[in-house]
Order: sequence, then structure tokens, then C-alpha cells
Amino acid sequence: MDRPKILLTRRWPKSVEKHLTERYDVTFNETDKPLETSELRDAMLHFDAVCPTVSDRVGGDILNVIGRRAKILGNYGVGFNHIDVETCKKLGIVVTNTPDVLTDCTADLALTLMLMIARRAGEGERQLRARSWNGWRPTHLLGTKVTGKTLGLVGFGRIGQATAARAHHGFGMRIVYYSRHRAAPEVEQTTGATHCPDLDDLIRQSDFISLHCPGGPETRHLINEERIAKMKPGAFLINTARGEVVDETALVDALKHNRIAGAGLDVYEREPDVPNAMIALNNVVLLPHLGSATTETRVEMGMRVARNLDAYFDGKEPPDRVV
Ligand code: NAP
Repeated sequence: MDRPKILLTRRWPKSVEKHLTERYDVTFNETDKPLETSELRDAMLHFDAVCPTVSDRVGGDILNVIGRRAKILGNYGVGFNHIDVETCKKLGIVVTNTPDVLTDCTADLALTLMLMIARRAGEGERQLRARSWNGWRPTHLLGTKVTGKTLGLVGFGRIGQATAARAHHGFGMRIVYYSRHRAAPEVEQTTGATHCPDLDDLIRQSDFISLHCPGGPETRHLINEERIAKMKPGAFLINTARGEVVDETALVDALKHNRIAGAGLDVYEREPDVPNAMIALNNVVLLPHLGSATTETRVEMGMRVARNLDAYFDGKEPPDRVV
């Protein structure tokens, strides 16, 4: 067989791009701009494998092309809510993702956001860079103590558990989690976490709420106006999951009127657009979707895609097959 033709929809770390060229006929997106719908549709016609990422929306209109050549989507990322997996299932298109390798760095970023918002790190940095800091004083930029507080996790999979372990063992936090299934007793023990079967209950008792469930129709606006209203007035919302899990308009409104203490966000409903009303707020830390953004992790993610493609083109079951 000729070398399989594969398309990477964005630039990947150089070492992974080089690795892929050893086995595949690889097309790179030299400009690194997101592809248009028509270009993605075209890709389905001309490549054996298409490797999208979270900035691509791979809907039925792209997958349902007559004369499709692509039989596998090697997604670069663990979340795959940007891919219409039901249509993939119907059409027999294989979809793979990159779990595990980004767990630590995403959990680290959830902790970064918790600390930044609670300790007013963004505000402090902006003040210093504006040359308006005039020295230490007992009442300057007082934040909220993190150690010993209650952290409520929504979603308790790989990243939720890694966040729990850091918060419990590093910051002595009490951990409660909500997910549809209860974790194994040994996982609860090592992470110091207690299952809370009712999301509203978890929201009412948490000082920090950190989201770690997947995106998609089932979790869209899981954190809505009613649920935000149930948060303690001194509580913080952290989102490293997906923007659509939170009703952004309701969150902006709550932050604007100081109904909650603050939020730390890495993901947004309409990325890369972030509403002006959000940008204007001081009680929110805003990061540009950096969860997995370390050199080590981004290389490992690429190698994980390579491993899935290799298995597929060797006629084996890809290890991270989701469809
Ligand atoms: P995972 O191991 O599959 O964990 C997902 C968790 O969410 C599970 O505990 C699952 O448990 C729970 N869940 C699923 N549906 C739910 C629902 N309707 N309500 C409440 N909980 C639900 O996934 P992961 O590796 O931890 O990744 C989690 C998500 O993080 C990804 O899907 C991705 O969107 C996001 N992420 C973001 C970044 C970033 O750059 N910011 C990086 C990596 C990942 P049950 O099935 O028992 O409910």
C-alpha cells in the first residue's frame, strides 16, 4: 500500500510532525489558521486520515461527503465534543483521542486558576505593570485563603481525580465530587474525595467548584443561572472543561453583581471570542485555553495520535478508540 495520506489541521510540535513523516505522507497546515468548513470537507475526500483538534468543528456536513476517503479521525486532544460522533458511528468512521498524557498539566492549570483568582494574582500583576503599586500594606489586595476550604468537583474522571489529589494533599482541602457513577473506594481514599450524588448539594457546600466533565449536549449549561444562584456568595467557579458547560451570560451577570466571589476560566462558549462584558471584570481570571499547553504534554499528545494511526493502519484496534 502507498504511504497513507494524513492531514494535520493545525501545526503540531516539530518533533511529532517529523516522526509522522517517517511513515505517512503528511500534509501540514503551514499557516496554522483554522480550516474552513469547505476545506475540512475537502480533506475528507482526499486523505486517509484527518487529525483535527478542538478548534475544528467536525459536523455531519463535513463527514457526510460523497466519495469520502477518510476512515479515521485521529483527534489531537482528549475532549471530542467538537466531532459529531453519532454520524461517525453511522458512517463507520473511527475516532480516537489522547487521554492520560494531558491529565497532570490540565489539573495543574485548574489549581493555577484557583490560586490566581483566590489570591487576586491577575489584579496584582496588572497593578504592578501599570506602575500603580506603591508598596506593601496590611490591607492591600486581600484575597481568600485556599488551604482547608471545600472543593466541589463536577466530573471525577482522570483530570478531576488528579485535581482532587493536588488540592487534598497539597492544600488540605476537603473534596466532594459529583459524577453519574461513584468512583472505586481506593480512588476516593487516595484523593480524599467523597461522592455527592446531587449536583445542587455539591454547589451549596463548595467554596470552589471546578468543572471536569466533557462538553456536549448532555452537559451544555449544566452550570446555569439557577445553579450559580445556589453558590455561596464567597465561592469561586473554575472551568478547565469546556466553555459550553457554563451559561456564560449568567456567569457574567453573577460576577458583575458580585453574587459569587469570582471565576477562573480557561475555556469559553464561543472560542476564541470572549465577551467584552467578561473582559471588563476584575473578579475573573481569563486564560486562553492553556490546559494541556506544555511542550512535554503537546509532544506526548502528538505521539499518542501517532500510536492510534499506526495501530489503525496496521489493521489493529487503535488503543484510544472512542468510536
Ligand atoms: P474523563 O476521564 O472521561 O472524565 C470525565 C468525567 O466526567 C467522568 O468522571 C464522568 O463520570 C463525568 N461525566 C460525564 N458526563 C457527565 C455529566 N453529564 N454530568 C456530570 N459528570 C459527567 O475525562 P478527562 O480526561 O478527565 O477530561 C475531562 C474533560 O476535560 C475533557 O472531556 C475535555 O473536554 C476537558 N479538557 C480540557 C483541557 C483544557 O485544555 N482546558 C484539557 C484536557 C481536557 P460519569 O460518567 O460517572 O458521570
